[in-house]
Amino acid sequence: MNFSSKLLENAVAEFSKLPGVGQKTALRLVLHLLNQNKQEVEQFSGAITKLRNEIQFCATCHNISDTAICEICSSPKRDAGVICVVEDTRDVMAIENTSQFNGLYHVLGGLISPMDGVGPTDLQVDSLVERLKDGEVKEVIFALSATMEGDTTIFYLNKKLKPFNITISTIARGIAFGGELEYVDEITLGRSIVTRVPYENSLTK
Ligand SMILES: [Zn+2]
Repeated sequence: MNFSSKLLENAVAEFSKLPGVGQKTALRLVLHLLNQNKQEVEQFSGAITKLRNEIQFCATCHNISDTAICEICSSPKRDAGVICVVEDTRDVMAIENTSQFNGLYHVLGGLISPMDGVGPTDLQVDSLVERLKDGEVKEVIFALSATMEGDTTIFYLNKKLKPFNITISTIARGIAFGGELEYVDEITLGRSIVTRVPYENSLTK
């Protein structure tokens, strides 16, 4: 693309870095911003800067939060005896939308993927084990995607958690998760949490 302005070119280059945004779309977005008044554009850029500077990760479950301990972890209404293990914050949002789960979460921050060089130490595994030590947690539910990475992660975590005297269960496999969030319907996801099965049983099917 030939740009008439270096400033325009720079802005388009920044937008093009976003997932799924090509140069043409980036140009359309930038021109759209140029048509807005300065105050609106400042609000837009301010929200992004504020997000990046002020966002926190819950010290307990690692979910994205405005506070050191997130709203879910600090709510007395939640059942602290059940932890649902998910890949990222999108999964927490999806499960919360179903209103079928009243326990707590643990956000791993990814899945074990030897191909991409992601190992257990890159994920929030140790802190999950740590949360089980005081004996308050009675059940851990795996809600991870039905991919090779999801299976590998569950297999690894199951071995890690087995020494604790808790129920280890998994939601119905085959539920689309995370990146495929938009394809999950709430009723199916909600039902799969309610009808979760012990992990060991899920292997024999
Ligand atoms: Zn939390």
